[in-house]
Amino acid sequence: MIGSGVVFRTRSWAVLLGVLLPGLLTTAAFAADCPGHPDALGTSRTLVVDPREHPRIGTMQYRETLPLKDHEVVLTFDDGPLPKYSNQVLQILADECIKATFFIIGQQAKANPEGVRKLVAAGHTVGTHTMTHPLTMNRMPIEKAEAEINGGIEWTTAAMTDPSKLAPFFRIPGLMRADAVENLLISRGIQVWSADFPADDWHHISPDRVYQLAIQRLEAKGKGILLLHDIQARTVAALPKIIRDLKARGYRIVHVVPATADRPATPTTPVEWLLHPPTETTPIARWPAVPNFVFTQTATLPAPGLADLNAQTAHQPLLLPRKTMAQSDVAATLPVPGRDLFAIPEGSVEVLLSTTLSRRAATRLAMAAEAPPARKGKAGKVRTGQSAHAAHAAPKHAAQAKTTAPRPTRVATGVKKRA
Ligand SMILES: [Zn+2]
Repeated sequence: MIGSGVVFRTRSWAVLLGVLLPGLLTTAAFAADCPGHPDALGTSRTLVVDPREHPRIGTMQYRETLPLKDHEVVLTFDDGPLPKYSNQVLQILADECIKATFFIIGQQAKANPEGVRKLVAAGHTVGTHTMTHPLTMNRMPIEKAEAEINGGIEWTTAAMTDPSKLAPFFRIPGLMRADAVENLLISRGIQVWSADFPADDWHHISPDRVYQLAIQRLEAKGKGILLLHDIQARTVAALPKIIRDLKARGYRIVHVVPATADRPATPTTPVEWLLHPPTETTPIARWPAVPNFVFTQTATLPAPGLADLNAQTAHQPLLLPRKTMAQSDVAATLPVPGRDLFAIPEGSVEVLLSTTLSRRAATRLAMAAEAPPARKGKAGKVRTGQSAHAAHAAPKHAAQAKTTAPRPTRVATGVKKRA
């Protein structure tokens, strides 16, 4: 009962100041409003959002996220209520005067309606998370998806004393999004919540690892929506340390509520719904805008002629590229390369081959290289001028060459083949 009184007083302050003086709020002011817990983190402000204006939020999947300022955090808890752990999460949040958002599973609400009422009584925001938590909403028939959505809403509101306390906020189980599901939710004025970072608390990891992931990922983005689960022992174990560290690092908790007829949305600009909106310090923002020229006349201008260049006929050779005579006998004037250029010492190939091949294989290869080529195709055709030089190379067997003195020369492959 004491807890409830504190909760409502804190909430009324948050709503009032959140609307009127958002820039003047400090964590310290709210921590002081947390009786018995002078060092509490508290809730720094309440953000009122209109689901119809920003229907998809959370940068894990969407372009937009909540319009948070640097070092602002929104805590969210999925899959409850499960008394054993949800009650402990509730107590930890109460001790820190923190307001969070809970996404309820219909079956859990059906089994534990009191758990839903406790969340509402504590001033937390309550959204839904389907009836049975299927991880197939990205591929199930839309009729089935709609039944899941409706079941969750039906049983969660049934558990509430005042059904109007249900926020039109929805998180798809496993974040298994699909356009059809999102469009259905949006058409009903329900905001689709992804998250900005999880802490993997549904995996089999230690509470300390949950704490590390929560802080590391928050630090990487600087602000955002943290996805947790109030049905896990490791989350209960990690939560106090996460909150203590948030406080130590200067983070502030933001409580999100839906806009209603008597509670207008917190004024925001579109760029605030981006995680890192472009600022004045972004270089591209300083580029001057390109002016829009208005053309008064669009007629094509004539191309200038020689007369426009004040050129006399006698001067034309100076202005225009000089005419040249094509030399059609270029080939005849080129020097013929000497035969020594193509000559390699006899035996070189055998020496090279013998380093990697057996002597027998090397000999066989050398014999093949020296064999007269088959006369076929273009390979056998060489212009007359070259054949005169190549004809001097006499084909010899490698073994035979080694015993002959003085050593003849072999001709490089391409030319030798004319022998
Ligand atoms: Zn879930």
